[in-house]
Amino acid sequence: MDFQFTTEQEMFRKTIREYVKKECSPEKERELEDQEAFPTDLYRKMAELGFMGVLVPEEFGGQGGKTLDAVLLLEELAYGSLSSAGAFSFCNLYGVTKILHNGTEEQKREYLPKLASGEIKMSVACTEPDAGTAIGTIRTAAAMNNEHFVINGTKVFINNANVVDYLITACVTDKKGEEFKNMSLFIVPTNSRGFQTSPIRKMGNRATPSCEVAFEDVVVPRSSLLGGMTQINLGWRAMRKTLDIERTIFAAGCVGLAQAAYEEALQYAKTRRQGGVPVGDHQAVMHKLTDMAVKVHTARLLVYHTGWIIDCGWPATANAAMAKVYAADICKSVCLDGLQIMGGAGYIHQSNMQRYLREAVLYTIIAGTNEMQRNTIGMALELGLPRQTRER
Ligand SMILES: Cc1cc2nc3c(=O)[nH]c(=O)nc-3n(C[C@H](O)[C@H](O)[C@H](O)COP(=O)(O)OP(=O)(O)OC[C@H]3O[C@@H](n4cnc5c(N)ncnc54)[C@H](O)[C@@H]3O)c2cc1C
Repeated sequence: MDFQFTTEQEMFRKTIREYVKKECSPEKERELEDQEAFPTDLYRKMAELGFMGVLVPEEFGGQGGKTLDAVLLLEELAYGSLSSAGAFSFCNLYGVTKILHNGTEEQKREYLPKLASGEIKMSVACTEPDAGTAIGTIRTAAAMNNEHFVINGTKVFINNANVVDYLITACVTDKKGEEFKNMSLFIVPTNSRGFQTSPIRKMGNRATPSCEVAFEDVVVPRSSLLGGMTQINLGWRAMRKTLDIERTIFAAGCVGLAQAAYEEALQYAKTRRQGGVPVGDHQAVMHKLTDMAVKVHTARLLVYHTGWIIDCGWPATANAAMAKVYAADICKSVCLDGLQIMGGAGYIHQSNMQRYLREAVLYTIIAGTNEMQRNTIGMALELGLPRQTRER
């Protein structure tokens, strides 16, 4: 068993850390969050450093990385720059995974090089006012009309919908069809006539704008159907194909964020003195820090292991759900304990910790709520424990 990253991966991690140190000061992060502004300049810098091509094969102009490389990327970004983490996740990650694993050859050649270079941004729109967890009940419909589809409907909570160039949009294409077997994915340009976004204000994750999106007679060509016309009504299958990768990478974001919260709380506990001693000398505080360290370490092992399983090409649905549910849960509890250790200083606006906590809560909701992950794990357990290694 080898727990070491390759030399290339260590170099990649160093590059990400240098980027975070140079470009993403806590002051800048606070400013972006306060202004609820998308980090345009950071996105450009990340693209120049090749981060947007991390999962794109070299033949399409990317770095040819694997899941573990993207795990490293999101872990480091979430550790030092939540705005960069949001920009990568919701302008690149979903677009790349969906096109790479489901696109036609033509779609790969059209979009992947531009995604890798940062020339275009792309995300995904599934959630609707009446269809969140129950994604099979979406109503946004794409009606076929000669060479075109005409899309009508409303999506909600769509991150960066007002920033990206394309939204991969889940639409019903067979109104009489069974749930999950009636939908298709479309690559919709956001400058289409009839496409409109309205911003939604929220508790955290504020440098990643979220929007309601209205599609009013949005016309897209047949060629925008992800995977081509043979994939009509197979949109859910396409979506499922990439869930394990996306969840594992999000789980890595939780690990990075939890690490930041732990380190900040530790530093505070060492320097804040009460009654003549550092607060960290009190066993009640020390035990909190100990538990935080154990949780972060355990989550990291789970996430790395899952990334490794995916990169081996083995089934990883239960593992990815475990990684996501555990990493998101501990991230929230580590941030909450970090805030408790800091007392009033953690609760005020200038404190990073309160921002960490607000962001951590989101991780338990997106990429499939933690309740849904537990359903997934439960179903897998009925069939036996998830695979830890390839079956012999
Ligand atoms: C800031 C933010 C950004 C987002 N970005 C995007 C995006 O870019 N694209 C996109 O498509 N979506 C996005 N989402 C939507 C997100 O995926 C959904 O919020 C999530 O899937 C949950 O749906 P819901 O909010 O409608 O909750 P609901 O589905 O209404 O669930 C409410 C509660 O009931 C629980 N519940 C529901 N069904 C079950 C069940 N079967 N078993 C157990 N518990 C259940 C849920 O876990 C939850 O706790 C974003 C959400 C937020 C908050």
